[in-house]
Amino acid sequence: MVEKMRIQRILQQKKTDISLTIEGWIRTRRDTGSFSFLEVNDGSCLANLQVIAEKELENYDQEITKLSAGCSVVITGDLKKSPAKGQDVELHADSVKVVGWADPETYPLQKKRHSLEFLRSISHLRPRTNALGAVTRVRSRLSFAVNNFFQKRDFVQVHTPIITTSDCEGAGEMFQVSATGEKNEKPFFGSRAGLTVSGQLQAEVYAQALGRVYTFGPTFRAENSNTSRHLAEFWMIEPEVAFCDLACNMELATDLLKFVLSDVLENCSEDLALFDKFIEKGLLAKLQGVVEQDFVHITYTEAIEKLTGVTEKFEYPVKWGIDLQSEHERYLTEKMYKCPVIVTDYPASIKPFYMRFSDDGQTVAAMDILVPGIGEIVGGSQREERLHILEQRMIEAGIDRDEYDWYLDLRRYGTVPHAGFGLGFERLVQFATGMSNIREVIPFPRTPGYAPC
Ligand code: ATP
Ligand code: MN
Repeated sequence: MVEKMRIQRILQQKKTDISLTIEGWIRTRRDTGSFSFLEVNDGSCLANLQVIAEKELENYDQEITKLSAGCSVVITGDLKKSPAKGQDVELHADSVKVVGWADPETYPLQKKRHSLEFLRSISHLRPRTNALGAVTRVRSRLSFAVNNFFQKRDFVQVHTPIITTSDCEGAGEMFQVSATGEKNEKPFFGSRAGLTVSGQLQAEVYAQALGRVYTFGPTFRAENSNTSRHLAEFWMIEPEVAFCDLACNMELATDLLKFVLSDVLENCSEDLALFDKFIEKGLLAKLQGVVEQDFVHITYTEAIEKLTGVTEKFEYPVKWGIDLQSEHERYLTEKMYKCPVIVTDYPASIKPFYMRFSDDGQTVAAMDILVPGIGEIVGGSQREERLHILEQRMIEAGIDRDEYDWYLDLRRYGTVPHAGFGLGFERLVQFATGMSNIREVIPFPRTPGYAPC
């Protein structure tokens, strides 16, 4: 039997005069007098392989000349050096087997370019397009690079629960979980349960046993915000490190971003070049810049001072104590510094109870990383490791201490300074691909009023 090969491997190897089989889908067909050109894509890479199907093939008139976009085929032939410009090799077919037809009258993906909005309405077919296929490959590579980064640094991956009974951000934006017909019975889990909004609290448990851990999994927020940067279901990367302060946390986040972006620059260059051309002009230079530049570091108080000094009219007025809005974050990173900005030391009043209270009596050791085009991509903090202060903060926040007794135990027994952050995986994929809408970078987006497939 002839070896089956994926197109990416064929193009990388640059070998010719070998027989092989490819499996894929027709993108286009063009007939000349004595043969047809078939452009075949198998999803392994952006490039198609050009196939030459001669008139002499037994199913030429019956089938090959009827092939159209979307038909699935298995083709065996000889790989030859191509005389044509723009490609090194072409496949001279010995056999073209049609596996599945795709009626050109009804198949929605014709040769013309479709808008990303239209493609969203056919989320079961859109991965067959160049752009969405490329996003999917870059997303996969970023996921690999994230795991690679942590594993290289001796982090242990922990699978934190998806169903949880602790709401770490404060009530309101959690989806509730219940069994069918539960209303009249005892709750399935004994108490109110929901889909996790963050794996942080559970990651802290493991950090205080294994030292360096990370979770990377799905996260859910029932916030009713229909923006280009929010999903109801998204993936989050959350490292948690024992014996680590805010400076160490900032360094880890910076290293992670630089590592994964430089990985995709190296390993997804063909897909990124497509985005640079059609999605965000200058994308490659932007990513290269982030890998090479130092990130700017300012405190929240400095950010407020800077923002009050500019002529820009903001929708939300700037004053000390406000939560930075997306417009403020983007002004800092896009207009003022034109590079990633780490903002630290936010007012305690706008941040959750677990962030470490600072000696100034009004701020916590929090940090957000802001990047151009997105705004906040990372949110993190050093955690409060002192039992009495944590208890005090919980009382102030109106949090039931009995419910979090296990969390307080971590401070009762062998407490250590520790820190961590959440990196929104889709925001990372957005940043790497230049996609302006987050719905383009997750296979099946879930947003208010919308969850097809
Ligand atoms: P934002 O202010 O942008 O709504 P947040 O401060 O609520 O975000 P965190 O609770 O700090 O977000 O979550 C950590 C990270 O998870 C964020 O920095 C962001 O990258 C990502 N993230 C948060 N909410 C969403 C969402 N709804 N969809 C996609 N990613 C999100
Ligand atoms: Mn945040």
